[in-house]
Amino acid sequence: MNAPINANMDRTKYLGGKQSKRVPLLNEGLVRHLYGSGMTIAELAVEIGCTDRALRLFMIRCGIERRVAAKRDQRGPNNCLWKADRVTYKAAHNRVYATRGRPQKCEHCGSQSTDRKYEWANVSGKYHDPSDYIRLCRSCHCKYDGLLKNLGDYANVPPKNRP
Ligand SMILES: [Zn+2]
Repeated sequence: MNAPINANMDRTKYLGGKQSKRVPLLNEGLVRHLYGSGMTIAELAVEIGCTDRALRLFMIRCGIERRVAAKRDQRGPNNCLWKADRVTYKAAHNRVYATRGRPQKCEHCGSQSTDRKYEWANVSGKYHDPSDYIRLCRSCHCKYDGLLKNLGDYANVPPKNRP
């Protein structure tokens, strides 16, 4: 009835020492049946009433082959932490880099020199919208945002030291 134990699998590092005492006593047949029916370990743990980790240890001990966890698309709205247009300023900029990559040129002065740093600059205040950004070099970006004028002496503080 039981599947043959895979001799290549090193269980000692999972079940050695005190950890082995925490492996719960579950109904092996039930676990095999439900897991085989397509439930995930997380779903099965909820169904049985134990933690994911305990269930995983039990399955290892019984030699139940576990499926490789499927890669899921967790970008954008598929992520449980997705904030849509309530995104913070910093996260909004990160989102632009994630969707449009790192800018390689300046759309204002036309520079493509590799000596310069290029950044995404927001155009009309729609920070949550990655298409509302243009490529600018650091110099044009500062002028564009009026940073130097507004910051005064503060502009001389390196960005990493700013609060
Ligand atoms: Zn420029």
